Amino acid sequence: MTIGWHFDNTYSKLSDTFKEEVEPTKVRDPKLIILNKKLAKDLNLDFSQINKKVIAEIFSGNALPKGSKSIAQAYAGHQFGHFTMLGDGRAILLGEHLVNKNQRFDIQFKGSGKTSFSRSGDGRAALGPMLREYIISEAIHALNIPTTRSLAVISTGEKVVRENLLPGAILTRVASSHIRVGTFQYIAAKQNINDLKTLVNYTIDRHYPEIQSSNNKALDLLNLVMERQCQLVINWIRVGFVHGVMNTDNMTISGETIDYGPCAFMDHFNPKTVFSSIDKFGRYSFSNQPAITKWNLTRFAECLIPLIDLNEDKAIKMAVEIIDNFQNIYEEKWLNMMRDKLGFFGEDQNDKKIIDDLLNWMEKNKADYTNTFCYLMNIDVVNNEIYKDNDFLAWLKNWQNRLLVNNGTKEKSLNLMKNINPTVIPRNHKVEEALLSANDYNLEKMNKLLLVLNNPYNSQQNIKEFQTPSLNNDYQTFCGT
Ligand code: AMP
Ligand code: MG
Repeated sequence: MTIGWHFDNTYSKLSDTFKEEVEPTKVRDPKLIILNKKLAKDLNLDFSQINKKVIAEIFSGNALPKGSKSIAQAYAGHQFGHFTMLGDGRAILLGEHLVNKNQRFDIQFKGSGKTSFSRSGDGRAALGPMLREYIISEAIHALNIPTTRSLAVISTGEKVVRENLLPGAILTRVASSHIRVGTFQYIAAKQNINDLKTLVNYTIDRHYPEIQSSNNKALDLLNLVMERQCQLVINWIRVGFVHGVMNTDNMTISGETIDYGPCAFMDHFNPKTVFSSIDKFGRYSFSNQPAITKWNLTRFAECLIPLIDLNEDKAIKMAVEIIDNFQNIYEEKWLNMMRDKLGFFGEDQNDKKIIDDLLNWMEKNKADYTNTFCYLMNIDVVNNEIYKDNDFLAWLKNWQNRLLVNNGTKEKSLNLMKNINPTVIPRNHKVEEALLSANDYNLEKMNKLLLVLNNPYNSQQNIKEFQTPSLNNDYQTFCGT
């Protein structure tokens, strides 16, 4: 019975500077917790004839698929602003699985044992956080936001030591690649210009083939990565997502969301929202995400300087010109995204004011971000007494008048809004509830949650409990789980 793996291993063929060859550490008693059948199908993989025990052997790394060649990738990163040489300390890349011979996806285990980059870590992961990554990454995908995906989670039958002893687990992550801003920082720090050229060429071949024959590949790459990352952060802002740990090692060059550690979705609108227990100064707060994206892009640009121009001053000037553009591009994209959220066609000079007025009202009245847009789409939401407030009613009049500008009708606006405003997001209390049962190997709640989150732009019956904000305003999330 064949599953359909088709491995190619281009990254593992790069020189030793880029990676370490290492195999997953075998685990004692692997059990399949969840397999993403839909994703498997998209990847042309068929597990329907394979028994669960064998599937668990595969996704634990106890039995490696034929053709895979496992490595840990080297990278560096600015973590909360401080530069460190890192690398996959608990992740192992099996290789690139080819779908229809042209689409290429990294297949990576997370929590599969120590590597030479593990520093003081145990190379392991706990079940709760791996299932959390599964839930949130699949929700982000369903929200039409580029992201790494989750193919499977297995439990290892071993305990991992955190504050308590927790069940160990391994997540299989799928990504268009794991090349990060931090990968460039690592290679740039080694100061070998040929390796840097290799990385630029490799990245362009894999993600930006349209600039393969450009006169200034490094500069064009910077531009394209800026565009993708800008679009990504716009998407996060659109749905109220707080990534939580936007270190440069957690920003992909492909523009996919990666590293679901301390992330969470905001309930009531507050630009200063932070969930991460260690983010004391709000570096990665909801509204700081665009500024941090620009900061990370600046670190990326620094790596590329030697390839932009032989004259360093000239190269810096060219890179700065691009980075300086970020703010304008972001603001324009943001305005258009918010126009869509409010169902506005075309542009009107008062748009920014109408948008800001609504956001200010939401912040002042602690209105739920997702549900406020649902209310505007005539969806019956909980706690809707708040929308009887006089200031809101005055705003509503302005909004309704604006809807009619540029041949708009309420109906056309509603259609526009439906495709961009989710009716459901992973509410923190629902995620916690699902994880609590899953820790006792009861997946019923998690499966129901995944089903609801899979359809955020369609109307669904009986999902009130998934649309109700948390009562707990002090939700906390953690790194290094
Ligand atoms: P993160 O905060 O998840 O982005 O991880 C930052 C760095 O720490 C990466 O190099 C990870 O591979 C590494 N790391 C996180 N947890 C562990 C662990 N339990 N064992 C070894 N390395 C880890
Ligand atoms: Mg990371």
